[in-house]
Amino acid sequence: MENIDWKNLPFGYYPTDYNVRCYFRNGKWGELEVSSSEYISIHMAATALHYGQEAFEGMKAYRGKDGKVRLFRWEDNAKRMRMSASGIMMEKVPEELFFAAIDKAVRLNARFIPPYGTGASLYIRPLLFGSGAQVGVKPAKEYMFVVFVTPVGPYFKEGFNPVAVELVHDYDRAAPQGTGHIKVGGNYAASLRPADRAHKDGYSSVLFLDAREKKFIDEAGPANFFGIKDGKYITPKSCTILPSITNKSLEMIAEDIGLKVERRPVPLEELETFEETGACGTAAIISPIKKIVDRETKKEYHYGDIAGPYSTKLYVTLRGIQEGEIEDKHGWTTVLEGI
Ligand SMILES: *Cc1c(COP(=O)(O)O)cnc(C)c1O
Repeated sequence: MENIDWKNLPFGYYPTDYNVRCYFRNGKWGELEVSSSEYISIHMAATALHYGQEAFEGMKAYRGKDGKVRLFRWEDNAKRMRMSASGIMMEKVPEELFFAAIDKAVRLNARFIPPYGTGASLYIRPLLFGSGAQVGVKPAKEYMFVVFVTPVGPYFKEGFNPVAVELVHDYDRAAPQGTGHIKVGGNYAASLRPADRAHKDGYSSVLFLDAREKKFIDEAGPANFFGIKDGKYITPKSCTILPSITNKSLEMIAEDIGLKVERRPVPLEELETFEETGACGTAAIISPIKKIVDRETKKEYHYGDIAGPYSTKLYVTLRGIQEGEIEDKHGWTTVLEGI
């Protein structure tokens, strides 16, 4: 086991021993290759660099109280990466190859899997990009699939403490009928400027509105949004939202604990009616929101300085399932045997 200060690990890049790579060339995927280099060498005319042919995934391996290492709903990440690939005309990574790569990357770096109870986990970052040269705007003929892992602490240094979020009208992360529903780097490039502005103003993230009418809540930068009121878990439905696997899981847990689930357009005015709100994604599971400040109207929505009872229950349950402490009745986890 690595000698790391696990409890104070940031959510950042920490070097590990190996990464795995696979190339799609001449119409087929090659063998998985293991590398100990943190660098990749690619053609300067690669489509990833010019035309944004790049997609990624974010998932985690968790060390449970029972010592076992678990993945959470990896098949959904594999499927989403195929959707992302298809959305920007990239070669799809077959499910078996996706699993073989993450399995290998986790095993080879087993000494970096944070111990149970530290709040840290092993973040897994699969990425796929057009590595073949093109100058005209066309999909590449060659692709590279890479998986690296890095131990991470909680995404928000506040931990499971409510954060302040800035609602913006003057930026969109994705266009209607664009690429908001797939996990591609381009969406993130578009979100960097408003996110940086929000951070400088003391907010932990940005909440975007629907790009077409600016009337409905979309999502919170790299996380989906949900609100709770009157025994209901409500999350926006929009073609520009990335389908979060965490959100999908929380919806099921919400039903399990007796909440009614609504996935529908959420008008801006509804913000004042919620009892609890939060942002959800793999990185933090749930970041409860204490206040949302509308940058344009200066209107503020307050949800309390401590996490609400439903958000807490949802968080504790999902985390318990991921760490093998709560019965996984939906069959979401995969134990990686022998690590
Ligand atoms: C990855 C991502 C999420 C969260 O998805 P999870 O599968 O829950 O990790 C939410 N929004 C965006 C834009 C994302 O890229």
